[in-house]
Amino acid sequence: QSKTDLTHRISFYEAEMERAILERYALVQDLGRALDLGQFALHYQVQKCVATGETVGYEALLRWRHPREGYISPAVFIPIAEETGHIIAIGEWVLRTACAEATTWELPHRIAVNLSPVQFINADIPGLLQNVLMETGLPPERLDLEITESTFIADKAKALHVLRQIKALGVSLSIDDFGVGYSSFDTLRSFPFDKIKIDGCFTRDAEHSSEARAIVRSVLALGRSLGIPVLAEGVETGEQLAFLRIEGCVEAQGYHLGRPAPMDRKRTAIALAG
Ligand code: C2E
Ligand code: MG
Ligand code: MG
Ligand code: MG
Repeated sequence: QSKTDLTHRISFYEAEMERAILERYALVQDLGRALDLGQFALHYQVQKCVATGETVGYEALLRWRHPREGYISPAVFIPIAEETGHIIAIGEWVLRTACAEATTWELPHRIAVNLSPVQFINADIPGLLQNVLMETGLPPERLDLEITESTFIADKAKALHVLRQIKALGVSLSIDDFGVGYSSFDTLRSFPFDKIKIDGCFTRDAEHSSEARAIVRSVLALGRSLGIPVLAEGVETGEQLAFLRIEGCVEAQGYHLGRPAPMDRKRTAIALAG
């Protein structure tokens, strides 16, 4: 190929890279203002008892309505919020809003809130929880915090200390995305978890993969021997749910049981069901 071709290609890549950097920069700027501009909202996804089909709780899932880009997925903006530190203020808003909204529900279901490792390490979570529970009047037993194993990598001893403080408030702790993180067994042995959330990738593959079924079964057995209930994430079909029922999974969550949706519809749904 000719030298001019190569030069053209290099300048094309440079332009692309510059565009990507500028786009990201704009997104970072926008993220910094999103909270004040009221661009965040919470959607809620139902968590059900596998044996009875009864609703046991809802997980709060953050949504960003960007004025130009439209809806931006948390999978995209949470990592940016973590890198820039915005996650501290955003996470505080999520916790306060989820707890406040839960007090207006018709039925006193549990509310699960995701906590970022960055938030956990850099903010005073027990202090924040105490304030939010007092302000909103939400009984601590109704609150469930979902954390991932990456929360414990930096400082295990400190993490354990904080988790114990959280438990002392009466709030429950769930380990999220179990099976895809680091040091899963050690985490379960060392930390006071009330629930294991097995990652959706295992649930989804269980229908067609015997390896995925074996992993789901062994996590369920592990939960039973440790006395910790297991929730299966990402249940998309009736077949997957039937498998979980046969295997004795305690709770389930996924599109088959209900998609994440805003509060108003959910409250109506609860009112109708209740
Ligand atoms: P997660 O906590 O593991 O949440 C489950 C994700 O799976 C959600 O994606 C949910 O919409 C999606 N999901 C639920 N059922 C199904 C299903 O049947 N099939 C499939 N394919 N997906 C399903 P979402 O809402 O996009 O959130 C992605 C991740 O972003 C969450 O994973 C969580 O790690 C993070 N996140 C969401 N909201 C918050 C928040 O308020 N704070 C923090 N720190 N992280 C959040
Ligand atoms: Mg979660
Ligand atoms: Mg998860
Ligand atoms: Mg996840």
